[in-house]
Amino acid sequence: MHLILLGPPGTGKGTQAKVIAERLGIAHIATGDLFREAVKHGTELGKQVGAYMERGDLVPDELTIATLLERMQRPDAAGGAIFDGFPRTFQQAQALDEALAVRNTPAGAALLITASDDEIVRRLSGRWLCPACGAIFHEASQPPKKQGECDNCGSELTQREDDKPDVVRNRLERQRPPDEMLEHYRQQGKLVEIDGARDVDAVTRDLLAAIETAAADTDKRT
Ligand SMILES: [Zn+2]
Repeated sequence: MHLILLGPPGTGKGTQAKVIAERLGIAHIATGDLFREAVKHGTELGKQVGAYMERGDLVPDELTIATLLERMQRPDAAGGAIFDGFPRTFQQAQALDEALAVRNTPAGAALLITASDDEIVRRLSGRWLCPACGAIFHEASQPPKKQGECDNCGSELTQREDDKPDVVRNRLERQRPPDEMLEHYRQQGKLVEIDGARDVDAVTRDLLAAIETAAADTDKRT
């Protein structure tokens, strides 16, 4: 079974993808990891990908798909894969559909983990670091005993630029799955929305249930 996992940053998508891959015995294919690995191993595709990354350019869709297809040849992907980080656009979704159709392994479901903007900003923006001892705190889940001060060494805590609420909001705006792409999967009857504003296990449970339903539907169609 091939699955697509979608969701804005801060919904625990990567964690869920890993858990689901393990439970179902399929490959977890995260585009970011895949690119870094291809570059490291110096494969032909890796060299091409590396050239784009060095320039700070986006890797073109065709090249991304070629890299995905190459990855899907490996034994651990024989039973299927869950895609994490791709597609990000309507065009990419169409291209992936075509590539999977050629292999006769269409995606069984597009699982969208949802959370409100406020929830995501709360999760992603509350991180504070201690520059002296490296301790990490979080306003919501692990606040320091005294605001702005390290529990361990008493140093003044700092916040990375990336962890500031405005920067998070901005990034969220750019990384939210576009409506056009969601509509594409909705029209195929493959989009399943899972409420991500709950604990990790509850989200995993719902994802697995949705996958089971999708698998049953696929069996009925074929
Ligand atoms: Zn400290």
